[in-house]
Amino acid sequence: MISENIKNKTIEMLSTYTGEQITHLESQSVGGGDINAACKLKTKTGVYFIKYNNAVKYPAMFVVEAMGLKLLKEADELFIPEVIGYGEAENDSFLLMEFIEQGIRITDFWQDFGNRLAHLHKHTATYFGLDNDNYIGSLHQSNIKHDTWTAFFINERMLPQIKLARNKGAISKKLVDTFENFFKYIDEIFPVENPAMLHGDLWNGNYMVSPDGTATLIDPAVYYGHREMDIAMTQLFGGFSKEFYESYNEHYPMQADWRKRMDYCNLYPLMVHVNLFGGGYINSVESIINKF
Ligand code: ADP
Repeated sequence: MISENIKNKTIEMLSTYTGEQITHLESQSVGGGDINAACKLKTKTGVYFIKYNNAVKYPAMFVVEAMGLKLLKEADELFIPEVIGYGEAENDSFLLMEFIEQGIRITDFWQDFGNRLAHLHKHTATYFGLDNDNYIGSLHQSNIKHDTWTAFFINERMLPQIKLARNKGAISKKLVDTFENFFKYIDEIFPVENPAMLHGDLWNGNYMVSPDGTATLIDPAVYYGHREMDIAMTQLFGGFSKEFYESYNEHYPMQADWRKRMDYCNLYPLMVHVNLFGGGYINSVESIINKF
């Protein structure tokens, strides 16, 4: 449950947002998040969603999540919850947003989702990266800009995770060397693509069904990257239908042999999982990289 401090700040924010004097708020826990605690908030006039966590442990986490949600919303391709505000209350930080009342999927939900994601990926930039760093799960995600995908993928995606894992003793020196060798081929592996606006963490748990029955994206880790990263992430834990991929391909065709690159893209989220959860994920990483 939210603390009294968060409650008071939220009441203040909602009063300003709605233009009504809100005095009372009911909160109810929402499960399902990996990292943060979350609640549904009810006032006499509306329903809202709040996520909160330790402000010291995860500095600016919700500031950058709000920025990512804003970028996705401005792209105007998929339903994105509106951010109402964010702030800190004692040791906690919080993100307050529109509550998504889950709708009933439109009949062509997956085709529509594939089409919308394809259009999102057509939003481009002159660099790979972003103006600000953000988080992937609870880990720092560096978005320092690079002109090429190869430089970005190696320096801002793989190396920070490899260093973190090695410092923790989670991976062997041999695996680090194997990665170093693998990096020589990144340029050959990935076809040239424009930097694409990515959700950045598009697994099955990070979309919902919006009130209008289309897909809503939540919990993003936005950056301009190689679009195959988002597609690969949809496959890491499964759950996206074949119509989704067919439709995506129709609206923004993937380059030849994209399926073969999915594992290479997923080395990044897998290394993130090694750092967050350890154990079995090391085997998945090793099996991809040793096969190469
Ligand atoms: P975490 O950052 O901890 O992974 P999420 O952003 O994934 O948290 O949110 C946790 C859960 O809360 C989601 O799985 C989803 O069910 C629900 N949720 C997230 N955003 C909203 C929202 N705006 N409205 C209603 N429910 C939401």
